[in-house]
Amino acid sequence: MSHGLRVAEQYRVAAITGRRFSQEVYWRAIQPSISSGGLRTDEVGRSLQGRPIRSVTFGTGSTTVLLWSQMHGDEATATMALGDIFRFLAEATSDPLRERLRERLTIVFVPMLNPDGAELFQRENAAGIDINRDARQLATPEGRALKGLRDRIRPDFGFNLHDQGARVLAGPRGRQVGIALLAPPFSNDRRYDDVRARARLVAAVIAHTLGDEISGRIARYDDTFNPRAFGDLMQQWGTSTVLIESGALPDDPEKQRLRALNVAALLAALDAIATGSYASVNPNAYESLPGNRGGASDVLIVGGQVVLPGMSPLRADIALTYEDALARTGPRVRDVGDLREVVAIDTIDASGLFLHPQPPALTTGSGGVWLRLGAPAAIDIRRGADAASELVRSIVASGER
Ligand SMILES: [Zn+2]
Repeated sequence: MSHGLRVAEQYRVAAITGRRFSQEVYWRAIQPSISSGGLRTDEVGRSLQGRPIRSVTFGTGSTTVLLWSQMHGDEATATMALGDIFRFLAEATSDPLRERLRERLTIVFVPMLNPDGAELFQRENAAGIDINRDARQLATPEGRALKGLRDRIRPDFGFNLHDQGARVLAGPRGRQVGIALLAPPFSNDRRYDDVRARARLVAAVIAHTLGDEISGRIARYDDTFNPRAFGDLMQQWGTSTVLIESGALPDDPEKQRLRALNVAALLAALDAIATGSYASVNPNAYESLPGNRGGASDVLIVGGQVVLPGMSPLRADIALTYEDALARTGPRVRDVGDLREVVAIDTIDASGLFLHPQPPALTTGSGGVWLRLGAPAAIDIRRGADAASELVRSIVASGER
């Protein structure tokens, strides 16, 4: 793990600093790496709008691995990480890990499978089609490019690299998920054959690798079979495939820490495949992960009394969601009342305290004031019901987006 994080830091592509970038910017940034002798670039297809979809190949080993990222145009974390890995593979010519990978693996990367979507930072391609629901029908040129590449190289292992939402917890009352993993099922009965069992072992390697770094923030993605999704069908087609979903970590709005963790996780997984060490990993490191639990609120203020101007205090909790869940800005009132069962990323214990919604949160009319759901959540938390009592904490609604 520490080696992987050192690689992530030392070989970070400096021109990519945030998670929103066009294909043009990306390929310019990685150009010095991919034009080095060790890496080979091929065009594997064209997007609907005609942008080239390129693969980058490294190594000459007998085991073939296929990694693809950003088939959803607004999920760029792994694309950043792949750029850093290209730089490592191009420059770290005396690193033993790099040599092992080169000798034993043929690694084919497809960074940014959906460049048209990335242009607008949207999930779907230019026709509004979710490419990850096109694995069966193959109507999109992007989906066909991936399937065609798979059929040509027949990879032993695959990595399906995505981002998931920030409002997901590791288990019913767990922490916010940083990384979710899945060895996708290949059929409705979710059974394991050799192909899927190998994928589970590789996922276990990743869970084990990241476990200390983001303890309690790794989860297992829902394993309902999806007959239209690439991960599931890759598994069915015979490629041991692992889904990696980058979620969110505290104070990481541009997912730069998650980018580094992706580098470390992918290098550890590739090394385990190269050496064969994955075969002796305990699958329980994957099986014992808590499941993804979606739908969390961003903040729950629990135990207090709400004070509206001119009214008696009411015993009520307030749940908030941010307009930008990653940057945690633009809080809005999501729910008010007895919310003790609501799960949230952060909980503020306001027992014995008074919640004073401020003017931006209030609607004023002839009949009085209203606190309405969806209102900007400007709330002062005070010691008393009196608006002049001691201020404990302020939630400001005007967070920049
Ligand atoms: Zn995705």
